[in-house]
Amino acid sequence: MNRLRNRDVMYLKAVGPARAKLLNSELGIHSYYDLLHHFPSNYLDRTTVYRIADLPHATDDAAIPAIQVKGQFVSFAIHGEGAKRRLVGLLSDGSGLMEVVWFHRIADIRKAYSTGNRYVVFGKPNVFNGRWSMTHPEIDTEGSANDTGGLRGVYPLSEKLRQRNVTSKTIFLLINQVLNSLPPNLSETLPSSIIARYNLMPINEAVKAIHNPKNTEELARARNRFKWEELFYLQLDIQRFCRNRASASGGFVFNHVGQYFNRFYKECLPFELTGAQKRVIREIRRDIGSGKQMNRLLQGDVGSGKTLVALMSMLLAVDNGYQACLMAPTEILASQHFDTISKMVAEIGINVKLLTGSTPQKARDIIHEGLQNGAIHILIGTHALIEDNVKFRNIGLAVIDEQHRFGVAQRARLWSKNTTPPHVLVMTATPIPRTLAMTVYGDLDLSIIDELPPGRKPIVTLLRHDNNRMEVYRAIGRQLREGRQVYIVYPLIEENEKLDLRSLEEGYETICETFRDYRVAYVHGKMKPAEKDYQMGIFASGEARIMVATTVIEVGVNVPNATTMVIENAERFGLSQLHQLRGRVGRGGDQSYCILMSKQQLSKNTRQRLTLMTQTTDGFVIAEADLRMRGPGDMEGTMQSGLIFNLKVANLSKDGDLVELTRSAAIDMLNSDPNLSMPENQVAARQLGFLTKRVADWSRIS
Ligand code: ADP
Ligand code: MG
Repeated sequence: MNRLRNRDVMYLKAVGPARAKLLNSELGIHSYYDLLHHFPSNYLDRTTVYRIADLPHATDDAAIPAIQVKGQFVSFAIHGEGAKRRLVGLLSDGSGLMEVVWFHRIADIRKAYSTGNRYVVFGKPNVFNGRWSMTHPEIDTEGSANDTGGLRGVYPLSEKLRQRNVTSKTIFLLINQVLNSLPPNLSETLPSSIIARYNLMPINEAVKAIHNPKNTEELARARNRFKWEELFYLQLDIQRFCRNRASASGGFVFNHVGQYFNRFYKECLPFELTGAQKRVIREIRRDIGSGKQMNRLLQGDVGSGKTLVALMSMLLAVDNGYQACLMAPTEILASQHFDTISKMVAEIGINVKLLTGSTPQKARDIIHEGLQNGAIHILIGTHALIEDNVKFRNIGLAVIDEQHRFGVAQRARLWSKNTTPPHVLVMTATPIPRTLAMTVYGDLDLSIIDELPPGRKPIVTLLRHDNNRMEVYRAIGRQLREGRQVYIVYPLIEENEKLDLRSLEEGYETICETFRDYRVAYVHGKMKPAEKDYQMGIFASGEARIMVATTVIEVGVNVPNATTMVIENAERFGLSQLHQLRGRVGRGGDQSYCILMSKQQLSKNTRQRLTLMTQTTDGFVIAEADLRMRGPGDMEGTMQSGLIFNLKVANLSKDGDLVELTRSAAIDMLNSDPNLSMPENQVAARQLGFLTKRVADWSRIS
């Protein structure tokens, strides 16, 4: 199979340099191998031959799919003038007559077909002037190589290809040329042990069956094999990466639970840990006691108590004589973490400091000194933490909050602060479906907090339209009179920035007029940081009772007295983003509300999405739905392995079971043969080499 990578499509019949160039640029097809891996996006059903007399007389033409008829032309004639000029062939199959109509390339077509020969005609039948007809159907000579029967691939094309007369059939014929020239014993691209163990279709058969399967069962087996191949090598790449890192770097051993942890647990913890928090702390302790560097992703919905888990992990580091740091994506979040954490540990003598971009030089100098002489136990801050001049005496644990704002490269900078890298705990409130997490964050071990602290009242979510606005304002008024606070959120999307800013400003003015008795804070992303902090500050302190904002408030802001959130133009947000926003309310003991405002007219899909938000507050359900409806989206950007871009048949949201299966197969293989050096794994080693090299090449080009 891999030899086919060196055979240029240029050398196929009907392909010269010009067409080869077109296939390169439009479809990324260079070699025979590429061509065979250009999979159909759909299939024509050529399993059944219809009799013209039996064609279903549906009143709705759209209900009849493309079908196949066999017969011979009894006559050809040209009808009409100008734009209506057309060639009409009358086809008879012995049971009845059907018109075959062409509007273009009439002269060529008239030459191509003759009365007397038998043809297979494939297309969508219409009734025209009381007679069945097909327009520009696909026609093959009966019994020829192209009269394949079975299901036949339909190929994705570009507009440019269509203009240059490259059709789906052209591609199919090229693929068939390659298929017909293949040696009978094509070399496998999956190890035979895997083929046998998982009962997969061998490459010989699969490569034919994916383009021209006999029936739907055969197609399913072929697709399954290629899905396997894609996902298996993806997982193998990820797992190999994890192993390399694990073996390259040992980790500090924190095997001691000391006075800080114990005193905190006994004296400072104002509540019982949830079962999920306990389980996750056990998972973390197992990692940090193992002698290997921890790289763990802690996932938990907003408000599930991740900060506490982070704090207790940091206390373990301190108990073992190390420093710890917690890095947040914004100043506001960093100082909120600093406030809560320093309050919680005030009594046990832990020295916590805050370092952000706005820390004055003098304070900064003192912090630098405290970090180097070990007086500071825990440092909380923003990106400022990873600046080069920040040096710890012995950093043992780094916690990163809300990871999606930190790239892999920034994580790597944290590791390089020591010769032995610190343990890394990444926290995210964006629930990620398990299959995606295993891929996107495949280099991290996963811990999940799937339980909220007791006593939380689920947020009530409502979908309202512009004509309900007065009713919504009355509800806001009631909350305000009860002393509560309210968020009003506007979308801000780059392409439409000016317009959005105007709607935000107008919204702000309307709100100020409608609720004159209350102070209104106002925040958007284009503000100067100092102004933003000021506005956030007056809302956090309760001085301002309403916050009109763009999505800048999405991450982590904690104002427990805020019980209502109104989201304007909710249809413009993704589900996960709505979920994140909604998490800003429901943080205190009071019943909270989230009101999704949208225009009245919504597409079915949008209404479905918004309705789902009103039905569940379970972040995982929402994330799964988001993945199903929108695909992995920008998640791919954070991915360790580039191979995912190559997924053609596998689908991370639909093939969850296969993701798990291939992952465990990859782990098994590496467990028994970490360097893929055993003879039976040579196929896998070679294939992985080809695939990763190719990904590397792409990244070099772009
Ligand atoms: P997250 O960071 O996961 O969004 P936080 O750690 O900020 O959540 O916790 C949200 C709130 O829940 C905080 O006020 C915290 O003190 C409280 N909390 C955390 N764990 C518990 C628990 N086990 N029982 C009761 N309240 C808890
Ligand atoms: Mg948090």
